[in-house]
Amino acid sequence: MNDRQSWNLQHTYKTLSDNLYSVQQPTPVSKPQLVRFNKLLAQELGLDFLGVQDDQLASVFSGNVLPNGAEPIAQAYAGHQFGYFTMLGDGRAVLLGEQVTPDGKRYDIQLKGAGQTPYSRRGDGRATLSSVLREYLMSEAMHYLGIPTSRSLAVVRTGEQVYRRPIQEGGILTRVASSHIRVGTFEYIRQYGKQEELKQFMEYVIQRHYPNLINMPNAALELLKAVMHQQIDLIVHWTRVGFIHGVMNTDNMSIAGETIDYGPCAFMNTYNPATVFSSIDTNGRYAFGNQIRIAHWNLSVFAGTLLPLMAEDEEKAIAIARRELDRFPALFSAKWYAMMGQKLGIQSLKEEDAALIDELLDLMKKHKADFTNLFIALTHQEVLGEDIFKADEFKQWQLKWQQRIIQEGEWESVQQLMKNQNPAFIARNHLVEEALEAATTGDMAPFEKLLEALSDPYKIQNADFTVQSVPIGFDQQYQTFCGT
Ligand code: AMP
Ligand code: MG
Repeated sequence: MNDRQSWNLQHTYKTLSDNLYSVQQPTPVSKPQLVRFNKLLAQELGLDFLGVQDDQLASVFSGNVLPNGAEPIAQAYAGHQFGYFTMLGDGRAVLLGEQVTPDGKRYDIQLKGAGQTPYSRRGDGRATLSSVLREYLMSEAMHYLGIPTSRSLAVVRTGEQVYRRPIQEGGILTRVASSHIRVGTFEYIRQYGKQEELKQFMEYVIQRHYPNLINMPNAALELLKAVMHQQIDLIVHWTRVGFIHGVMNTDNMSIAGETIDYGPCAFMNTYNPATVFSSIDTNGRYAFGNQIRIAHWNLSVFAGTLLPLMAEDEEKAIAIARRELDRFPALFSAKWYAMMGQKLGIQSLKEEDAALIDELLDLMKKHKADFTNLFIALTHQEVLGEDIFKADEFKQWQLKWQQRIIQEGEWESVQQLMKNQNPAFIARNHLVEEALEAATTGDMAPFEKLLEALSDPYKIQNADFTVQSVPIGFDQQYQTFCGT
């Protein structure tokens, strides 16, 4: 097979303490078939599959045939799930290795749904075809929105049943991320490892993700700061586009600040900070508007794992960490208002703009405005049929806003800023479900069509300016699931 030259797999993770992983081969599947392959991503990774047949690709991306240089492992980690500490680890994912690209970037190549591992607990190690196609769509959508995320290289159907309700066909996703190191990985070492291992691991993470911190006097503190900044930037992005991750447990929070572990995630349609789609999130812990508080909470867990490395005296370490964590609300608030200002075409935010932004969101909530469509309508100076456009209070708000943006200069440049911030096309829940339903019966056309639109999300898709609509009542019934 002539793909053998292009794989350039390294295994730096295996230089770490062997408590951190288990050597684990993928479990072969009976009839792998290629469903989707991401050629552009393959190119970025320096992988050349030109002339390689689909059935050969299916063999590789199902784990039946290992790529040249693969040394598969499953990674160990722990995490706080809905607030409670649990030992976890990759229960259904196998890391083939780290692909080093021609331009020197390093990416984990992982097969998700590749069979049981020592961390499977009572799970079957498999994933449904529908759930991996969902992750493919959502992660690629996030990438094209310009948001840090793991990516999806391939989806293979396994030809085997997985026992869910109802019984479904299995799928395997090839997932690409700058690493799969999580807050939960630090929790695992802090809980079960020696202090020396924790220190070695922290140094590895700094080397891999934050090399500018090497040789800093208090590396642990610097790492906390860096991860905090990355995480704030990420959640600001999520709130910019209405993304709800759905299960922000500490094991699903990447140290590199990428969106990972797409499970019950969804995009919000009608603006409401209390929006939740995940069937298991009954208390709204991971609701749209709560994500920032949870990120703060998760970071405090992260800080806790680093305490022994921050100062010898525990009280002193706690004081250092607390001082840093206390900066979080103000830092987030500044970045969030700056982002919201940009959504409204305001580059040079003034203090009084906060009131303008807050008022708009209050009106959007009150009049049940579609989050995406409202901003895209403002961007293109359109009036939509939605209730909010008929409300006098909104018309008054618009006047205030128009007076404000005059101060920002030419409309063209204001509009350009808005176009860059406000997507016109997002992965609407009903479209995602339609695409997945068709795909599982073998019809990939709706999936491909949706993916294409999601690959250019800031573009108005049609000449006559029609925005995306949502079937009435759909969201009220809509539920998403994890662990499928
Ligand atoms: P997730 O909700 O996907 O983040 O998964 C939480 C934990 O459960 C992780 O350790 C997963 O690897 C594990 N897990 C989820 N589904 C399965 C499965 N079908 N078999 C084994 N482990 C699983
Ligand atoms: Mg997870």
